[in-house]
Amino acid sequence: MLISAGESIEGYRILEYKELVFGTAKSTEGESYRQIAIKKAQQMAEFMDANAIINFSIEIYPIKDNVQEITVYGNAVYVEHKDGRPVGGSKPNRVNLEAYMPKQNNEKSLIAKVQSSNGFRFVACPKCGTKYKTDVDANGEVRIRGFEDVDDDEPGLQIFCLRCGTKFTVPDEK
Ligand SMILES: [Zn+2]
Repeated sequence: MLISAGESIEGYRILEYKELVFGTAKSTEGESYRQIAIKKAQQMAEFMDANAIINFSIEIYPIKDNVQEITVYGNAVYVEHKDGRPVGGSKPNRVNLEAYMPKQNNEKSLIAKVQSSNGFRFVACPKCGTKYKTDVDANGEVRIRGFEDVDDDEPGLQIFCLRCGTKFTVPDEK
């Protein structure tokens, strides 16, 4: 399983975007708890027939005396080598490359619902359901790591969905 903190992986081409994956573990699970969390995220990605994780990030929170919880997360993807060689593992579903191109339209953007699961806050694309983990920056603004606001005219954060290209608004988390 390839893992990258960036939005791409050097030498590879992303053929398919899948879902948000994550893994959590507590330091009480032993010295290798970080690896346990990463393994969980990898297993989740494997279950989706992904062979790589991008936007990979790790957060560690103290939860009580000398106990920490680690959370790792990222977006599962299916990649191949730039020269077209497969990486191995399962085959991707049919890929519609056009779906990844941002679409220009003047319609007001759709508004995603903020959802919560396992302590995560995330939004799902209103069109295809691809999930994105949300964070709040120092100014209290909602952000999604690796994404810039694509529409300065509309209030709030607008992003293009990685999978289907739909522009949608990420509401403030209140
Ligand atoms: Zn979408």
